[in-house]
Amino acid sequence: MGRRDNTKTGIRHGDVETPVENIDLLIVGGGFSGLALAIAVERCGLKTVVVDRAAPQDVLGAGFDGRTCAFADASVRILEALEVWPDMAASAAPINDIRVSDGHSPLFLHYDHREVGDRPFGHVVENLVTRRALYRRLETCRHVTLEAPAGVDSLDFSDDGVTARLEDGRHLRAALVVAADGRRSQTRQSAGIRASESAYGQTSIVCTIAHERPHRGVACERFYPAGPFAVLPMVDDASSSASWPHRSSIVWSEKSQLAPRLLALDDAEFTAELRRRLGDALGNLEVTGGRWSYPLGLLRAESLIGPRLALVGDAAHGIHPIAGQGLNLGLRDVATLAEVIVEAREQGRDIGGEEVLERYARWRRFDVMTLIAVTDGLTRLFSNDVAPLRLVRDTGLAAVNGIAPLKRFFMRHAMGMVGDLPRLMRGRPL
Ligand SMILES: Cc1cc2nc3c(=O)[nH]c(=O)nc-3n(C[C@H](O)[C@H](O)[C@H](O)COP(=O)(O)OP(=O)(O)OC[C@H]3O[C@@H](n4cnc5c(N)ncnc54)[C@H](O)[C@@H]3O)c2cc1C
Repeated sequence: MGRRDNTKTGIRHGDVETPVENIDLLIVGGGFSGLALAIAVERCGLKTVVVDRAAPQDVLGAGFDGRTCAFADASVRILEALEVWPDMAASAAPINDIRVSDGHSPLFLHYDHREVGDRPFGHVVENLVTRRALYRRLETCRHVTLEAPAGVDSLDFSDDGVTARLEDGRHLRAALVVAADGRRSQTRQSAGIRASESAYGQTSIVCTIAHERPHRGVACERFYPAGPFAVLPMVDDASSSASWPHRSSIVWSEKSQLAPRLLALDDAEFTAELRRRLGDALGNLEVTGGRWSYPLGLLRAESLIGPRLALVGDAAHGIHPIAGQGLNLGLRDVATLAEVIVEAREQGRDIGGEEVLERYARWRRFDVMTLIAVTDGLTRLFSNDVAPLRLVRDTGLAAVNGIAPLKRFFMRHAMGMVGDLPRLMRGRPL
């Protein structure tokens, strides 16, 4: 991370002039989306400040986030192009097969990556590993400064720039502000962009298990009326004190009223409940580490842009983890926004200009709308026990399984390789 070049002007309140530091890009939120964007635009020398309210030592601690992320192949290509992936690769488990079934129905859908090429569908990585890799890569970015813990007190949008007042009283003036501050985005709210929101009444319980038999790179998702139950392959951990080195990540979505009771079970009872849903394909198992829970809802911002503002990641859209696509969608925002910003910069145009932001919004609209509709539709179709719907979805799964071109289309979609792809998604640097 670089030292800031202190180009300063000032704003006058009566007799007092407050110094204002001029930068190019202000990113509010240093989660996965915000950090990836800062790294992506670094190459073109934009003076960038990332503000995050969380302290790095907290978010980089083992107890902060127990989740893993299933990165689609297109996201892996983005992380490769950003030179973040080499730091994650040894901890990334390839997804070679995906198996989807409806409860205990014998009908299922099986995807094998060899039907669409030689790369896996994606990789599963612990969020802690990804966060640490992004922070380490950020350290090498000369034009980026991370302010954390810090917050933005107010944003003043005008035709030729945005002035941000930080909570410590400093002022920054940028050509563009990016809201990467997650679902509850204050940046989105302060720009007056409304968002529609609804709760699914489900909570995801997340934990890691060690198990007797290897998973062979198979990711499984089983749909129950209370919510989907997913088992994601992780890399083995031979150094663990668990009885077996093989590991998988569990994302178990349940009715929100029931989740606290499940979380309060002792280890033996909790493991027994897991086994009831998991079956015995992985043999004996034990839960390692803690249990985390995340209430689930759908969020969609009415616009991806405002004057001198762009929204990325969960600040723009929050979806159900049913297809493990939330961050993948956010990284596609990042790849697209980075490309339009870098192009504008190289052509000497204003990076916060209307035309640049319109291009970003147009490029992202279809993908975002499609994924919101698909994940919401799947959640509603599968999270119930209505007999006619069960018949529709079981025959649907079996039909897709039997129609090779349709199956290949869904597989390429799951890998994120459909549509007009920005350069980073094809693994090419900006
Ligand atoms: C159970 C579960 C499983 C999931 N599994 C997957 C998966 O397998 N694959 C996948 O692609 N996605 C998955 N997701 C989705 C994924 O976790 C999110 O899409 C992703 O974390 C969004 O990243 P983000 O950086 O956009 O937002 P966030 O992770 O919410 O980060 C926002 C950042 O902004 C900061 N911030 C917030 N407010 C402020 C403020 N006012 N000022 C300054 N900073 C602020 C926060 O500290 C944080 O660092 C899953 C989600 C859940 C709940």
